[in-house]
Amino acid sequence: MDTEYGLHPETDVTWAEQAICRGLTHVFFGPASERPERRAEREAIAASYCMACPVMLPCRRTARLNREHGFWGCENDEQRAAAGFAPRSPSRRAVIQARDNARREADGLVPAKR
Ligand code: SF4
Repeated sequence: MDTEYGLHPETDVTWAEQAICRGLTHVFFGPASERPERRAEREAIAASYCMACPVMLPCRRTARLNREHGFWGCENDEQRAAAGFAPRSPSRRAVIQARDNARREADGLVPAKR
């Protein structure tokens, strides 16, 4: 069970020492008013770091478990939401839609995407 403010109890952050994105917060987290085209460009740059990062999978797992915002483990908010791990307070319509679709799939109301 996770809490509103604490980390999920299965969270392991020992991987963080090997993260190659230190000091690049502006690449992995965009401003609230970011335009879609700019977001796509920023996330493409972030993905290039993630693809070369030795801790991509534990990073992704941490973000999923803790319902994080931003770009983690080569996933953005929509991708995490589609996988059933939406950010706690999604603010963009695309993220909310991905979250709701994942919930309907989990409930068996629509066929799962393959
Ligand atoms: S996988 Fe990406 S977001 Fe995660 S630590 Fe590595 S570079 Fe940073």
